[in-house]
Amino acid sequence: MVKYIFVTGGVLSSLGKGIASASIGTLLKSRGLKVSMLKFDPYINVDPGTMNPYQHGEVFVTKDGAETDLDLGHYERFVGVNLSRYNNVTAGQIYSCIIGKERKGKYLGKTIQVIPHITDEIQDRIRKVAKLDKAYIVIVEIGGTVGDIESLPFLEAVRQFRLEEGKDNTLFIHLTLLPYVPSAGELKTKPTQHSVGRLREIGIQPDFVLCRTQLPLTEKARNKISLFCNVEKKNVIQAIDVDNIYEVPLRFEKEGLTDKIMKQLGLKNKKKDLTEWNGLVEKINSANKLVRVAVVGKYVQMKDAYKSVIEAFTHAGASNHAKVSLEWIESESINNENEDILSSFQAILVPGGFGLRGIEGKIKAIQFAREHNLPFLGLCLGMQCAVIEFARNVANLKGANSTEFDSNTPYPVIDLLPEQRKIKDRGGTMRLGEYECRLEEGSLSWSAYQRSLVYERHRHRYEFNNKYKDILKKAGLRIAGMYPEKNLVEIIELTNHPWFVATQFHPEYNSKPQSPHPLFRDFVKAAMQKTLPRERVSI
Ligand code: GLN
Repeated sequence: MVKYIFVTGGVLSSLGKGIASASIGTLLKSRGLKVSMLKFDPYINVDPGTMNPYQHGEVFVTKDGAETDLDLGHYERFVGVNLSRYNNVTAGQIYSCIIGKERKGKYLGKTIQVIPHITDEIQDRIRKVAKLDKAYIVIVEIGGTVGDIESLPFLEAVRQFRLEEGKDNTLFIHLTLLPYVPSAGELKTKPTQHSVGRLREIGIQPDFVLCRTQLPLTEKARNKISLFCNVEKKNVIQAIDVDNIYEVPLRFEKEGLTDKIMKQLGLKNKKKDLTEWNGLVEKINSANKLVRVAVVGKYVQMKDAYKSVIEAFTHAGASNHAKVSLEWIESESINNENEDILSSFQAILVPGGFGLRGIEGKIKAIQFAREHNLPFLGLCLGMQCAVIEFARNVANLKGANSTEFDSNTPYPVIDLLPEQRKIKDRGGTMRLGEYECRLEEGSLSWSAYQRSLVYERHRHRYEFNNKYKDILKKAGLRIAGMYPEKNLVEIIELTNHPWFVATQFHPEYNSKPQSPHPLFRDFVKAAMQKTLPRERVSI
């Protein structure tokens, strides 16, 4: 019998529902249970792929090439699994599926309604995940905040789901915020009471309330929440702010959350094994060296746009006993006059992105890294900019560019493949998901991975233009990785530089806390070789 845990959120968004859900996944996995995760996103977009990062944050790409919510990244990192397109379902997908069936005549004679058609489809998606992932426990996170119009069909569907699967096989957890009001000198429970009230109006009684709080939860607050929200006092759980998100599962464990969940679901209490997780947290917290890395990007005001990159640095830092301090530089602000600011860093990273804005600043930063022997890692657009920089300034191809930014460039070193040129639709039509990459023996990448065949995830439309391969190689560019089947360039490196690697794929999606990505790990290691002026080295 599969068990289902539903996680909802109240009061306001950004409380860390994704991390809370992922942490519960970590804990149940630590008891030897096979866990899978599902995120429902109540918006009408089919996927977040066409959304601006300012709206949505990072688009996380699964192995099978789905563009998904960034919470799937947390799930993969915390639960140590690889998920697929079935683990993220949006309202847009549900509606387009129902409308598709209607056009085919599957409902002839009937009126299609939110209940039962939409809600049944939502329930089917939950069971599908349990089946596909052969999971014993499915944790279902419902995006948005209780009270939003969009989330109503999802909440109604899971209310019915409990009725069908039974109380012993389903569990509801509600995450809320307890604001601290200094003038009153206490944590306030009223917003929690109201948001649980909204849930109960729709027929859902949470079994647990997770209270996000700055300060330890007082006895008084616990009593109040228990009484007014109709939740047993022992199930009012403190979710206190932490600096290191990987500590969250350990905090929940301390509150006895795993035992309580298992008891309620009638699960045999197997021995816990959190040794590895404890070690990981210890390693992150005890890092005693500081590494300063400049991230030159376009969405620096919106750090969520680079979630997996940030996490990959946490993992890579820990494995080097270092804390990586990422300093965000708006690429648009870099020019000839101020490029010197880059000399106060030990390494430079240029991440992925789309569109013309800030491109010239990224190219300047890459030139600086190349000329000053600063370790450099370029990701996707960062790789494309590195090719442009090298073509212009080393191979002497003046005006070289990507046709994404200049369709009339005399040297289109980055261009669309003929099959991409034909595509008119924007949603889900990039080169997406995992592809094979063959590494050149002796390259920096080969020495990082210690293998010659690797698989990495992609999300881009443009490619290295093979017409310029020989000219660029002759000028000193190393083609360190190729996708053999289509003869596509996957990794470039510089030979006369301490550490300069740029990838067409996104290695950050594959970094896990227990297995840091080899390229990030070696990049941080190379950065640590670079010395900084004294005042910038303390932690
Ligand atoms: N804009 C570039 C492309 O579409 C790079 C995409 C990215 O960095 N993810 O190819």
